[in-house]
Amino acid sequence: MASDCIFCRIASGAIPASLVYQDEHVVAFPDVHPQAPTHVLVVPRKHIGSLAELDDADLAGKLLLAVAEVARRGGVAERGFRTIINTGAEGGQTVPHLHFHLLAGRKFAEGSLGE
Ligand code: AMP
Repeated sequence: MASDCIFCRIASGAIPASLVYQDEHVVAFPDVHPQAPTHVLVVPRKHIGSLAELDDADLAGKLLLAVAEVARRGGVAERGFRTIINTGAEGGQTVPHLHFHLLAGRKFAEGSLGE
């Protein structure tokens, strides 16, 4: 855990958050500035700075399965959702702890990869 990392502090319980999913390796909680009716962040408990630093295939699979489980629990799996991972400065990442955005509850442009 990085003591100065906000997502490490949420994952450890040092900062209270309403977790919508948790297991041994992964936690998920609502984004504080939601961009859609459902906007959840899925993060590893272990501090990994970004996708560019991820080298654990087992954890990668666990994270992806957690995203799907959060979508099912949130009731958005059937209608559909968007999953985004911003990486590094040019990728638009602002919190340096790997996280998946799960967005749902509104229509996203087909085929859009954003700005
Ligand atoms: P990114 O720009 O991909 O790094 O996304 C970081 C996200 O974290 C943004 O959507 C923020 O709104 C969100 N965020 C920052 N601090 C918190 C927090 N304490 N709790 C929940 N979401 C947060």
